[in-house]
Formats: sequence, C-alpha cells, structure tokens
Amino acid sequence: MAHGQSSKGSAKERSGVETLSDALGSLLSVQSAEIARLMTLGFDACAIPVALFAPDDTIAFASDAYRALMNVAPEAKTFGDIVRKAYETGRGPVLSMEPDAWLAMAASRRRASEVRSFEVDFMDGSWYKVTESCVEGGWVWAFYTDITSLKSKEQTLLVARDTALRHADTDPLTGLYNRRYGVSELDHQIGVAARRGTALCVVLMDLDHFKAINDTRGHLAGDAVLMHFAGEVGHMVRRADTFARYGGEEFLLIMPEADERAGFTAIERVRQRIAASTDAKLGHGYTFSAGIARMAPQDDLQALLRRADSALYAAKDAGRNCTRVADRPSQ
Ligand code: GH3
Ligand code: MG
Ligand code: MG
Repeated sequence: MAHGQSSKGSAKERSGVETLSDALGSLLSVQSAEIARLMTLGFDACAIPVALFAPDDTIAFASDAYRALMNVAPEAKTFGDIVRKAYETGRGPVLSMEPDAWLAMAASRRRASEVRSFEVDFMDGSWYKVTESCVEGGWVWAFYTDITSLKSKEQTLLVARDTALRHADTDPLTGLYNRRYGVSELDHQIGVAARRGTALCVVLMDLDHFKAINDTRGHLAGDAVLMHFAGEVGHMVRRADTFARYGGEEFLLIMPEADERAGFTAIERVRQRIAASTDAKLGHGYTFSAGIARMAPQDDLQALLRRADSALYAAKDAGRNCTRVADRPSQ
C-alpha cells in the first residue's frame, strides 16, 4: 500500500479519489499476480505447450510443456535463443535452413496476421500444430497441439492412396502401365504435341502366333513370354516414352517428339533383338509385328490409334515379324 500513503490532509486525500484508485490499483496488481500464478499452474498442470512472446520476441512466459518440447535452455531469453539452441543440439523443431535465415523467414510471418496456424515437425518425429495469436502491441501467444497420430494416419492414407493409384494404372502380370493409363497418356500427349507443334508417334505391337505358344507350351509359358517381352522392350525405350500393355498380347508405345523415321528405327531395333533372343528360361524364341502411326494435325485419339492398328494389320499381312508405318491421312 506504499503507493496509497499520501500525506494526511492533502487535497488528494480529502477528495478521496486518488486514495480509492490507489487502493484498487494495489488490489488489482495483487490479483493479477495471483491470476498469472494460477494460470501458470493451470498451463503446467494440463501440459499444454504454450508461450507468450513480447513484441521484441523475448520470452515473457513459457509453460513447462513448451520448455520441454522446444528444449528451452534455462538461460534462453528470446525466441531466437530457442531456435539457435535447437539447431545446435539437434533437439526440438526441425529447421529447414540455418537458424538466422529461418528466424528472418519466421519474423516476416510472425506478426503479419492476427492469427496464423501451421504444422511443425520435431527432431523426434513428432508433429505439432502451432497457433500463434498476435495481441495488442505485438505480443504473441503460441499454442502447440500434438498432431503426431493424425500425421501418421495421414501418412498411412497417403501411402495407401499412392499404392491404389499405382495399382489402378498397372498391369498385374507385366508390371507395365495398363491400357487405361496408356490411352489417357496418349490423349494427354496428343494435346501436348498439338500445342507445341512437335512430332508424336504411336506404335502398336502384337506378338506373332501367340495362341500357338499357349496351345503347345501352356498358358504359363505364354505368361512367361509376355513378361519377357515387357522386360526386354521396357529396357530399350526412352525415358520420355510410355510403354503399356494394350490388352492380351498387344502393347502400346507412345513416343513423344519422334517422327516416323525415328519411330521405325527404334522399333526395328527392338524387333530384331526380340527375334534374335534365345532366352534360356523361355527355351524358345518368338516374334512380334508392329504398326507405327505419326500423329497428323487432324488426328484425334481414335483416329491415331486406328491408323496404328491398320499399320499393324499390314505388318501381319506382310508375313509377321516386321514393322509397317501408316500412311499420312489424306487432307
Ligand atoms: P497373330 O500372329 O495373328 O497375332 O496370332 P495370335 O495367335 O498371336 O493371335 P490370337 O488373337 O489368335 O491369339 C491371342 C492369344 O493370346 C489368345 C489368348 O488366349 C492369348 N492371351 C491373351 N492374354 C493372355 C495372357 O495374359 N496370358 C496368356 N498366356 N495368354 C493370353
Ligand atoms: Mg498376336
Ligand atoms: Mg492380338
């Protein structure tokens, strides 16, 4: 009450106004200290990582849970001290860059809006959602919520989704893309080639007398041939090419930025290799026929595939184990 002990008989005391406000002020200051103490106890009791930072980012308050989570050293005075220590010790939040750059990035965002939320991962593998509220004068409350289990469920779901997507695009026997994916990729590549004015070749390949392989050696031997073909050709195509099982013993190869000459040379190299291959595991040889069509300006998906198919039939008609190129469509 030292504050309220004004000299007896002064004007202030007579009016009673300042004495009263002093008394209230003292009472309030006692209460706020008590409130602060109780709040601290409360924050610590419920183990919420929470901290209050002054406008200059000194630590005004940090709960025990916050200190443990952020590995706050007893001598730490500012948010910067916490971040530098985390970087130095490898404990606490994961920093995507060295501390000064990270702090500059954080400072530019920290008080940019009244409330902001983001996710932070920690060196021990845990994840927290951080909510920062900027209050009057640039004070910042930071609350941390443990979302590790949500994150791990999210991760499991993402892996499951990726696996499902891969399965949806993959032919189970050969591991190549399936027809659905091949056709949608061709549709996409037609758009790319049309926009850029680049060449695009489509190749359909069909194994010769495949039914006879099944009939004489059995279905499993037929499967082994399909896998052998997929493996061999898969190794020979360019990275930019898309190789898919089109159905049965028929395969689709999409060759962006290849004209019919480049396409023909590439396919003939593959055809000769397959025809000459004497794979010990197969114990017999096999061949395929191919039809190539280069995309013409008026080609849509169906027209381009139809022309490649006609070229394939021309190759079969010509006696198999050969490659034919489709004529350009008439204007
Ligand atoms: P061509 O030279 O004219 O292409 O004759 P082909 O015998 O290769 O053609 P055909 O269409 O008469 O026979 C294709 C065979 O491919 C019939 C079908 O049972 C077989 N087949 C389709 N899918 C598979 C598969 O996944 N595994 C096996 N083993 N055989 C398959
Ligand atoms: Mg066939
Ligand atoms: Mg066929």
